[in-house]
Amino acid sequence: MRFHRSALLAFEHYMASITAVSINGPALPASESHSSALVNAAWKDLAQISTRPHSFNSRQHELTRQYLLDRIQTVSTKSANSEHIDVISDESGFVITYDSNVGYWEGENVYVVIHGTSGTPGVLVSAHYDSVATAYGTTDDGIGVVTLLQLLEYFSGHRPFHNVVLNFNTGEEINLFGAHQFIKHPVSKYVSSFINLEGAGAGGRTALFRSSSYEALKAFSGSGPAFGSVIMQDIFKTGVVHSETDFEPYSEAGLHGLDMAFYKPRSRYHTALDNLKSTDKSSVKFMIDNALRLTNFLAGERYVAAEDNADELGVFFDIYGHKPLAFSMTGFARFSLFFAILGPTLIGYIVYYVMFKHPVVRVTAYGWVRMPVTFFFLVVVNITVVKMFTGHNPAIIYSSDLPIIAIGYFSLITSYPASSSF
Ligand SMILES: [Zn+2]
Repeated sequence: MRFHRSALLAFEHYMASITAVSINGPALPASESHSSALVNAAWKDLAQISTRPHSFNSRQHELTRQYLLDRIQTVSTKSANSEHIDVISDESGFVITYDSNVGYWEGENVYVVIHGTSGTPGVLVSAHYDSVATAYGTTDDGIGVVTLLQLLEYFSGHRPFHNVVLNFNTGEEINLFGAHQFIKHPVSKYVSSFINLEGAGAGGRTALFRSSSYEALKAFSGSGPAFGSVIMQDIFKTGVVHSETDFEPYSEAGLHGLDMAFYKPRSRYHTALDNLKSTDKSSVKFMIDNALRLTNFLAGERYVAAEDNADELGVFFDIYGHKPLAFSMTGFARFSLFFAILGPTLIGYIVYYVMFKHPVVRVTAYGWVRMPVTFFFLVVVNITVVKMFTGHNPAIIYSSDLPIIAIGYFSLITSYPASSSF
């Protein structure tokens, strides 16, 4: 048996670094900034919103709505730009069809329009203030809502170039009705892009996990702390994650946008454990910082909406939480094509060099067969191990990172020495 210890060691280091990043992730902002007035104010609002579950049509929902209206009025009337800010309480009703049902909906959205200096269509930032009946709605979607209040504070002091519309919407938990209601309202003409703030976990960092176009992704590129990956978008598309967000109605209406959400621990989502104790100020700060950065870009003078190719998709990710990057699909295709040609050319040349030009390696027929056999063996082992775990607990992926990492280690430990012995 040929047991490549150095290779195994390298593998272990690789796994350990991935483990460290996936458990802890890039560090949240330093603690001294958590005590800033902005975060403290947001935390106070969050505590109010999270007092009790506040699902649509409940008494607590009305109290939450009244609290938000009071806060919005206070901030917008004291603003130096108050004549450029409109607060609209939208209680309109409409007939809607969904899942082969027909329903009638009367909503209670609150829109805040901050008219930009240019008056050009700008950005919608949306979060829902209703919770499910079983949760306190702290991260789903309380932090999103208090972030909207902080954006209002900011833009009432710094008038944007393009319009900014804040949608404190409700009915998200009932077929995304609030977002559908917004699309039907004339105020939707004030915007061409959107940022949806959501909660699908119960704390930690928010991730940018979906974008409808490269146009909106331009806002993501820059400097962090930020977190996001196009891989999450692909996972979402497969239907593995059983959630819908306001991202769908907004993008179906032709707005270019981003979906940003807390994503773990997933097991607390829509349960009584989505409460104030499960989250902390660093999560609040992370969402506010990111929302402010993205909104400032899309509402800023430098941002000019593309006339053509506006629907082109993009690729996005971050480098260790500090350098968010985004590419257009065309740019990424060129990049990939370059390496798709360069890689085999280089390998072909190396093979030619070591086998024919300066023959130092003699590859036997056995050598050529070994790689595909090893590969096949590893795939079989991995599928078996995953089936073992999911057979025992199909919901294991929702519970915590540790079982998933255990699967990774287990398959590595069992498969590597076995494959080396061929
Ligand atoms: Zn939600």
